[in-house]
Amino acid sequence: MLKVLKFGGSSLADSSQFAKVKEIVESDSSREVVIVSAPGKRNSDDNKITDLLYLVHAHIRYGVAHDGVLSMIKKRYSEIRKGCGLETAIESIIDETFAGVDKKTPVDFIASRGEYFSARLMAEYLGYEFVDAVDWLCFEYNGKVNAEKSEEKLRELKNKYGRIVTPGFYGALPNGDIRVFPRGGSDITGALAAAYLGADVYENWTDVSGILMVDPRIVENPKTIARVTYDELRELSYMGASVLHEDTVFPVRIRDIPVNIRNTNAPDDPGTIIREHFDDELEEETERFITGIAGKRNFSIISIYKSRIGEEKLGLLRQVLEVFARYEIPVEQIPSGVDSFSIVFPSGSIGGRKHELMQELSEFESIDNCTLTEGVSLIAIVGRQMAYRIGISGKIFRTLGENKINIRTIEQCADEINIMVGVYDEDFDRAIRVLYESFAK
Ligand code: ASP
Repeated sequence: MLKVLKFGGSSLADSSQFAKVKEIVESDSSREVVIVSAPGKRNSDDNKITDLLYLVHAHIRYGVAHDGVLSMIKKRYSEIRKGCGLETAIESIIDETFAGVDKKTPVDFIASRGEYFSARLMAEYLGYEFVDAVDWLCFEYNGKVNAEKSEEKLRELKNKYGRIVTPGFYGALPNGDIRVFPRGGSDITGALAAAYLGADVYENWTDVSGILMVDPRIVENPKTIARVTYDELRELSYMGASVLHEDTVFPVRIRDIPVNIRNTNAPDDPGTIIREHFDDELEEETERFITGIAGKRNFSIISIYKSRIGEEKLGLLRQVLEVFARYEIPVEQIPSGVDSFSIVFPSGSIGGRKHELMQELSEFESIDNCTLTEGVSLIAIVGRQMAYRIGISGKIFRTLGENKINIRTIEQCADEINIMVGVYDEDFDRAIRVLYESFAK
């Protein structure tokens, strides 16, 4: 059994967080490979080390003294070193690193140091070997990772050292220069390492006990999703749920390695497992049917009417969609009736051009009437258990109806894992709350 673990910034924010990480790693001997982020915020007013590093770079670039920011960075690592009783001379390592930095130093090098310093300390703390990411994570010049080369190097290092700590977020270009992933990229490093080493599980340790069924700003203390498929995750994150982006874990997805989202501050919570599919069903899943609910506000609907439209409907729809394409307005849904159809789109995408668009559509000879409704929210009710089950949509509509919430649009995708309803913005929070209450027993 091999577990690859990635710890995010909040799990490494100070020495007491480092201590939690150590306890987690030591509680299971299969936790052999550890990827670390740079220390994150200790509280909401605090700074992430990576943000401070980007700030250092900006200061240097504009010729402004950066000693103040640098000493904040040094103080954070120094506190961790002392708090954990470590000997790695992190203060001098930081001094030496920045002594050699000038206007020509690439921003990626500076940004990557947060993970580097973190990993140096964590390796000593755990008694694991420090393996620098530049020694295995190989980028091409176009920013793509060379999977074959990176896998070979990582496997070699893992075989040599057994238990390793490696920094997330960066790797090396063919000439040895450092290249970073987009922000939050340590998740990608973790997924790559888990995939290359054929791990049994990729544990992604953060500060929440997994993915929640619904936005906690709307429903107090919602339940955690025990298991979610990538397709469900995609539907939920598309509709605004802030969860791990499924692109970041693509390397483990294609090798069917389960991802387990865990909470460093509540290590006994089982968290959420993400997989391509599950062969069995847990009792709570079959009882509940739905996996999660997510939604977004601020959509508009343009409805087009033409009496006895018949066969011309397709042509008219094409023409209207061409107008939308010209205005670069993304189309979310196209609910349709016998003599009408509607187009649902994000209100923000129309900018200040709504009157212009309505004017253009109303000049179509083949249209009797067109109307614009603003202030609509879309709510997605997502669940793999919903597919081919009778009565789910009935329950959704009954719940909304009993609570006097008017449904403006309805859509169900063909694989039946998602039912989407449109309600007025003012009903949004209440609709999510009553749906959650009726499903999440
Ligand atoms: N430290 C980097 C960031 O703040 C990468 C990461 O934490 O994943 O974006």
